[in-house]
Amino acid sequence: MPGLEDLYREIILDHYRSPRNRGELESPPAIRSDGFNPLCGDEIAVYLDVSDDGVVSDVKIGGQGCSISQASASMMSAAIKGKSTAQARKLIRSFKEMMSIHESGLGGQDLDSDAPSVGADDAEDADTDMGDLEAMRGVVKFPVRIKCATLSWNALAQGLDEAEA
Ligand code: ZN
Repeated sequence: MPGLEDLYREIILDHYRSPRNRGELESPPAIRSDGFNPLCGDEIAVYLDVSDDGVVSDVKIGGQGCSISQASASMMSAAIKGKSTAQARKLIRSFKEMMSIHESGLGGQDLDSDAPSVGADDAEDADTDMGDLEAMRGVVKFPVRIKCATLSWNALAQGLDEAEA
């Protein structure tokens, strides 16, 4: 019987092979923010169109790198498109919490202790639907890959700061 981890791996590979919102937007008017992860060589470019009423009306992802970095960016783009900047920021917080909870819970424990229920109460805010992002939970078993997973989210945060400046 395939476990949850197999399902997660499939979701990640699906986003890696068929990345959502791949491309670029003309900048300006779109805001472009870049991320680079020297540990792994991952590059991400996030293009954001933010409307006057604070909605992420379009998003495109460029760059190249490992499957974790590219899949995470793809999932992020799908999750924030059409959302308000406030909702996008909330997703950033939820995603980073998901990563850091596990990071701090890793000390000295074996891999099987990484039950998916850990931190679920934090990630499942009433109106925060993590969707496919849940699949990234498995990444925290490999602390060196967490930077791969959060790269696009840090670039997004930068872009939102710029959009709201
Ligand atoms: Zn990477």
